Amino acid sequence: MTTAANPQALDDTADTNARGLPEPNGAVPTAKDLKLQLRSGRLSLDFIATLGEWEGRRIERIVDSAQWLCWLGKARVVCPPAATEGDLREMQELREHAYRVIRAKVEETTPPLDSLAVINRFALTPPPPPQIDDDGRTLKRALMQRPDEVLSVIARDLIDLLSGPLQNRIRKCEEESCEFYFADNSRPGRRRWCTSCGAAAASARYRNRRNRELAKQQRDAARASS
Ligand SMILES: [Zn+2]
Repeated sequence: MTTAANPQALDDTADTNARGLPEPNGAVPTAKDLKLQLRSGRLSLDFIATLGEWEGRRIERIVDSAQWLCWLGKARVVCPPAATEGDLREMQELREHAYRVIRAKVEETTPPLDSLAVINRFALTPPPPPQIDDDGRTLKRALMQRPDEVLSVIARDLIDLLSGPLQNRIRKCEEESCEFYFADNSRPGRRRWCTSCGAAAASARYRNRRNRELAKQQRDAARASS
């Protein structure tokens, strides 16, 4: 995959900028609803999460081309210089079918053939070859990708995931309030949470253990002084 940081697109301010767009059910998405996050450890799965609550409110987190370029920068995909409304519609089409296929995979049902065909179509565009700049450590900026090349990179990542060694390790995060899918690349293969919820669960376990130890120390000290 051809990736590089795009300093302009790495502006995080858009994350918490609630747009206040009304949803079909009348609820206005909050800043938290619209937050762009990378939690799955996999480009194509994080891409799916740029739309929130797929089976509910369907919260669009990519509200304009600036937001799309921002997300690509966060995901470390070489950005196109701009994206049109048509590019965004293409992005939404790929994302819709990527979601359907991943949902079918996780629910162990047959993936929709039309969705597989769409993903294959997007993957047909060859991404530009990576080229190193004269400093020997950065990608040449001239090789910014076209919008269709970006979507091809994402479609190819999805195909690689579905057909590769992690194909049976695609799961939905078990945290009730989390909607991320992730691919478990751990050696034991028993991960239950996305990266963010996994880290939160680990720190909660640590806190509980620490609190139990402190309570025991206090009991022991009280016993010793009585
Ligand atoms: Zn999670």
